[in-house]
Amino acid sequence: MRTVVLRNLERARQFPLQAPSEGRRRGELEGCESCGGKVQEVLFTTEPALWSQYPLALDGWVCPDCGEVITPRYLEPEEAEALFQNGLSAAETGRWEEAERALRRLCNSWPRYAPARVYLAQVLMLQDESRVPPEVDAHLEAALSGEGLSNQAPLAELLARARLTRGDVEGALQAIARCSLEPEHAVQLADWARGRGDLYDRGSKALIELLEQGQPPREEVARAVDDLLEHLQHRPDSWAALWLAGRGQALLQELEASCVLLRRASQLQPEHPDVLREYCLALLRVGLNEDALEPARKARELRPEDAGLVTNLAVAELLAGDPDAAKALAERALRLNPKDANNRSLLLLLEDVCMGRCQPPRSLGEISGRESERGTIQQ
Ligand SMILES: [Zn+2]
Repeated sequence: MRTVVLRNLERARQFPLQAPSEGRRRGELEGCESCGGKVQEVLFTTEPALWSQYPLALDGWVCPDCGEVITPRYLEPEEAEALFQNGLSAAETGRWEEAERALRRLCNSWPRYAPARVYLAQVLMLQDESRVPPEVDAHLEAALSGEGLSNQAPLAELLARARLTRGDVEGALQAIARCSLEPEHAVQLADWARGRGDLYDRGSKALIELLEQGQPPREEVARAVDDLLEHLQHRPDSWAALWLAGRGQALLQELEASCVLLRRASQLQPEHPDVLREYCLALLRVGLNEDALEPARKARELRPEDAGLVTNLAVAELLAGDPDAAKALAERALRLNPKDANNRSLLLLLEDVCMGRCQPPRSLGEISGRESERGTIQQ
């Protein structure tokens, strides 16, 4: 099919888009409405440089004889299905513009088809999670009064999320109430909205990715931590938010704040080895070495085969003043995971300390400073 790429914004704006209320418009066209000549199927779209200002993707016809433009063309179900699938697979791999183009074509041809509206809104939201363009609301409203959606749960969540991104909790609750949902799910979703679950979702998703990086950009970490801290104002007992925000604060070198958050997390989850591990590390970072022993021991007790937890306990023992206990633990960790380079270098250090060849280190920083390998403990 031919594509007409528009390079003029004003021209592009003249293409009338169909309102959802108008329903199906044109399918097959016998001939040009103006001269009766044979028409050609065409996709009208804006060039890449114009796309961000005016993302037009509209099917129609053009008459080669008189130049008449006729839109929109009703896509046959097979064409529509192919576009829908194209939109979904492009979105899955982050090809946003391609996803948008396919879904916009579908929305323009099938204006009452709710699934395309929902996915288009989602694609627009995923591109920048910190702001939601008003167009998103228009698509979601169209979906709410449209057809073809067997389950309104994803729509309700997006409607609520769009409003929450603007800080509008009341609006989010009203949107949820307008959707037809299983009563249990409606209660759950409203609870999520009241607790600003959107902030947790955004902050945790970003932070989990950032924690995987060696040296993540500081401002991105700070933004994710801020989201989690704001969520915690609404849900102070969210241990997962405390745990993640505490790890984020440690990355930002806000060590005291990190320790406070992780202490609260460990009080809420006293049997969670991952929470205890992070709390132990936070205590070691601020020099509360003896306090670190208890969470380190507990974590190891809960997951005795985890070499990382045994190494952490070894570090805590060393810094709390018992190098012999530390050495026995480091040897045990080595048996559990012979390939762990961090543990091997800790063991070398401990042998020197136990033989009196060097003074025992007194802080985490000193341990890393003395090692050839970077870092001893699993951060
Ligand atoms: Zn014509």
